[in-house]
Amino acid sequence: MAHTIQRSAQTVLIVNKYPGTCKDCGTDVARRAGIAVKEDGRWQVLCAEHAGETHGLLNPWRDDHHFKDSGYTGGEYSRARSRAMVDSEYRNTDALSRPCPCGDRMWWRPTVGAPQCVSCGAIYSSHVDQATGQLVERILT
Ligand SMILES: [Zn+2]
Ligand SMILES: [Zn+2]
Repeated sequence: MAHTIQRSAQTVLIVNKYPGTCKDCGTDVARRAGIAVKEDGRWQVLCAEHAGETHGLLNPWRDDHHFKDSGYTGGEYSRARSRAMVDSEYRNTDALSRPCPCGDRMWWRPTVGAPQCVSCGAIYSSHVDQATGQLVERILT
């Protein structure tokens, strides 16, 4: 089913703090496993599959990146600026995440330039073979 929640720039989107049921498919969503979106003043929960583009909200690398980048702040480079800079690297990257053979998920990691699994460290790599025009996909472990 398509996303039933209309998004705008004002839409408040957060990782779900409380378990709930996905509004789109009815699956149980554990705490922090999906997103919560405010619609008509009420919080609705969506599973990761139906969350749509969240700009890295569920990407574990983003929090790690925020933490590391905060070590470089000072002077002109404020904490808020650091957060904004890091966040911008995760814009429209949810679609790049993919299931990992280990059972976890590979998430876009800007410092690697590819999706990487947080659990096993596997990196997804792909390129188009010039001779055949075929997409060649590899999992680097
Ligand atoms: Zn769902
Ligand atoms: Zn993995």
